[in-house]
Amino acid sequence: MKRTLLEIVLVLSLAAAGYFGWTNLQKGKLATAEIAAIQTKVDVAEELLKDSEKEVETAENALDALEETLDPLKEKALELDAVKAAIANGPLLQDVESLYKKDKKLSVERQLSLGALRMLVKGSDDPSATDAFNKALQMADWGSRKNSICAAQIGLAAAGQKVKVMSECAVQLPGADAVASHGDPKAHGAAPAASAHASPAGDKAHGKEVKTADAHAAPHWGYEGAMGPDKWGKEFPTCGKGQSQSPLNIKSPFVKGRISVTADYKAGPLRMLNNGHTIQVNVTPGSKLRIDGVPHDLLQFHFHRPSEEHIDGKPSAMVIHFVHKNAAGKLAVLGVLLKEGNENPGIKTLWANAPAAEGPEVVLDDVSFNPGNLLPREFDFFSYEGSLTTPPCTEGVRFFILKTPVNISREQISGFPFKMNARPVQPQNGRIITSG
Ligand SMILES: [Zn+2]
Repeated sequence: MKRTLLEIVLVLSLAAAGYFGWTNLQKGKLATAEIAAIQTKVDVAEELLKDSEKEVETAENALDALEETLDPLKEKALELDAVKAAIANGPLLQDVESLYKKDKKLSVERQLSLGALRMLVKGSDDPSATDAFNKALQMADWGSRKNSICAAQIGLAAAGQKVKVMSECAVQLPGADAVASHGDPKAHGAAPAASAHASPAGDKAHGKEVKTADAHAAPHWGYEGAMGPDKWGKEFPTCGKGQSQSPLNIKSPFVKGRISVTADYKAGPLRMLNNGHTIQVNVTPGSKLRIDGVPHDLLQFHFHRPSEEHIDGKPSAMVIHFVHKNAAGKLAVLGVLLKEGNENPGIKTLWANAPAAEGPEVVLDDVSFNPGNLLPREFDFFSYEGSLTTPPCTEGVRFFILKTPVNISREQISGFPFKMNARPVQPQNGRIITSG
């Protein structure tokens, strides 16, 4: 009996031990699965960590690059502060203002310098600085256009004025995408432009948002739609409000003119550009137009299709505008109408070298060109007082429109890369047209 009891205890013990072992085995299996799951989680977490490390590295690299860009900017800001402090402490502005007071009609360049000095000394809020930049913008002409317009527009933008800065005026900052400059080679006035360029950095101190030019912005003016001639006045007030605007419809009555005009043009290396609005040929100094004996230097000539001037209500196929300036800064434009006919040998040379797309000036040292080859023999003309026919539409430009047109072939007309680049005729407003 004792033995049987012992056997039962033994069997039970074995059974218990077996059960215990089995449960532990199950527990072990569960634990292994849990460990595997945790391991997977750890793996995922490690992956994430690696990714964020990469992100941190990328961010650090970007930060390094930014600091490299920032260093020269910091230097510029320091330079500007030093210049500001020096100028504000000295009598320079008073000296310049009293000196310029004697000059009744300041040049564009002097207006820009005055604007820049006032902005440096009195800050960008000062209305006298804005006034000087506005005057400069109104006065900018064909001879000094792009740089002066850019300097004035950037100055006004820095002063918080509502002004669109032309896409061509994009300020080049270190690290910024390179912007191709379609420089007007006539404009060597880089100094005033540079001083105005510096103003955005100074303006940061005033906590004002500076509108810098967007290099990818659309052109600021054109001949159609939202940028067409009837909208030019928004950005360039003279285009909208001026009372002596060009072009005109040339029609009688005429007043008999007594002005003598002679062209003395010389050959030089061909320098031309497509400025996005026309094909322009920049002329080497030496060619002159004499108006009553007063020499006017030929700066450049360019084309419009159809002609901007109408004669008795009708345009010609095209027109060439020869732009001149005398020592006093007065502009004179000689207009030569082109009518469809035989091929023009001079235009053949030009079209063969004209850039089809907008870009900087191309210099062709091996191609000699004489602008005189584009003139007719007869020199009778209509004359009137007008303006630039493109923004900023500056007035005070004398026009001489030759009565005799020259030929251009149909193929040559269609070879001009602009289908339509003519401003519509403007109100005469009582202006006298002379016929000589
Ligand atoms: Zn023109």
